Amino acid sequence: MTVPYKHEPFTDFTIEENTREFEAALKQVKGELGKDYDLVIGSEKISTEDKIVSVNPSNISEVVGTVSKANQELAEKAMQVAVETFKTWKKWDPEVRADILFKAAAIVRRRKHEFSAYLVYEAGKPWNEADADTAEAIDFLEYYARQMIELKKGYPIESRPIEKNRLQYIPLGVGVVISPWNFAFAIMAGMTSAALVSGNTVLLKPASTTPVIAAKFIEVLEEAGLPAGVVSFIPGSGSEVGDYLVDHPQTRFISFTGSRDVGVRIYERAAKVHEGQIWLKRVVAEMGGKDTIVVDNQADLDLAAESIVKSAFGFSGQKCSACSRAVIHEDVYDEVLAKAIELTKDLTVGNPEERTYMGPVNDQAAFDKVMSYIEIGKEEGTLVSGGNGDNSTGYFIEPTIIAGVDENARVMKEEIFGPFVAFCKAKDFDHALEIANNTDYGLTGAVISNNREHIEKAKEDFHVGNLYFNRGCTGAIVGYHPFGGFNMSGTDSKAGGPDYLLLFTQAKLLTEQL
Ligand code: GLU
Repeated sequence: MTVPYKHEPFTDFTIEENTREFEAALKQVKGELGKDYDLVIGSEKISTEDKIVSVNPSNISEVVGTVSKANQELAEKAMQVAVETFKTWKKWDPEVRADILFKAAAIVRRRKHEFSAYLVYEAGKPWNEADADTAEAIDFLEYYARQMIELKKGYPIESRPIEKNRLQYIPLGVGVVISPWNFAFAIMAGMTSAALVSGNTVLLKPASTTPVIAAKFIEVLEEAGLPAGVVSFIPGSGSEVGDYLVDHPQTRFISFTGSRDVGVRIYERAAKVHEGQIWLKRVVAEMGGKDTIVVDNQADLDLAAESIVKSAFGFSGQKCSACSRAVIHEDVYDEVLAKAIELTKDLTVGNPEERTYMGPVNDQAAFDKVMSYIEIGKEEGTLVSGGNGDNSTGYFIEPTIIAGVDENARVMKEEIFGPFVAFCKAKDFDHALEIANNTDYGLTGAVISNNREHIEKAKEDFHVGNLYFNRGCTGAIVGYHPFGGFNMSGTDSKAGGPDYLLLFTQAKLLTEQL
């Protein structure tokens, strides 16, 4: 009997011993930096001449690792291995497939701080964010394993005296998993494990800035007993390997998390039926957000300011769930803004190895993008906090607040993906909801209010996939807060939810005349 699912607890760093252990892990991993990682295609480990060099975004002279880079020929080879392996993997008992995930979760849990330390170096994550990322990776493994055991039973349907009916969910085929850098461990492991536990074979193309943590996960899967060929590891460029596999006639589905531009491109390309292709490809996409915290005039204003600051600046705002718009009732606007500015003053920015609150943004492109939006923000509103960046050693940007922004300003509409929040005044609660919905996205949102009627109204009218009340809008927990949004935020899928695995299966009805 499997023990009931419970999410992995976060590490309490106020406990001295935990801090010491984490420091030891950082030290150990620092000693391992710079290693070279192979591609994995079936049972072959392949070293290529062309490499992806993964650097520490906090200290760009530090190489986290070099990773072999696939080209189209290697991608084709991986595809053929995946097609072949699917023929046997799809017949494995789902419970045995689930056991491999349970084993992988146990391996990661035993070496938890080691993985988090890699995230500190490779993704620039502060300790608590790295710890949460690793915890979430464990959660995905534990949760999807249990979901597969459930799904094995199928859904009950009716039978008649003259016939026995059964509805079962079978795997799709070869899936291409294109994972993001911002939850470089959790989302990469979640997307991969959901696809494989459902009986599919996977071609994993991790984000180019965070391939090392993905290589580490591949090692875990092997150690957990995953047969060769079920997951091939093929880092490479989007335009070369990504497009090739998205277009490939033997690709059955694509699971993508990343930017809206890339997601839309994949969706369009996947729609085309190529020579020899005998299905319509399925695309599961989780894209951006322009997420809003609404503050009512009857509300706990300290809670409001804390929720905004934490949701806007945690991991430097590089979460698709991050709060990039604070929409505040005019009665309390000045007070909430003042409190948020005050809280922001205490936030430290720097190399997260040193236990700062905020680390860097992801790379030079992210740095340039956020800095250019700060300039736009200064024109569209008033800079009241932060605004400076320093990319001399890493890509650091201060937590930035732009106040007095019009609801139709660019910084209220476009995804910035950095430590940037715009404050906007609303005439009343209805107006606040109108502003909140005035976006192409629909991922997360929060309402800070003590007015029950307003809370109920928001439940109906605030159109986002993850709506939170009297808390921030980030930090969804697997199995508790199934995650994914509406409109341009993606394909309405819910990662970490009870219906997620259905996306990687197809239903087959079996009717036997008696
Ligand atoms: N699930 C994360 C959260 O709730 C965000 C995931 C993402 O940024 O893609 O904060």
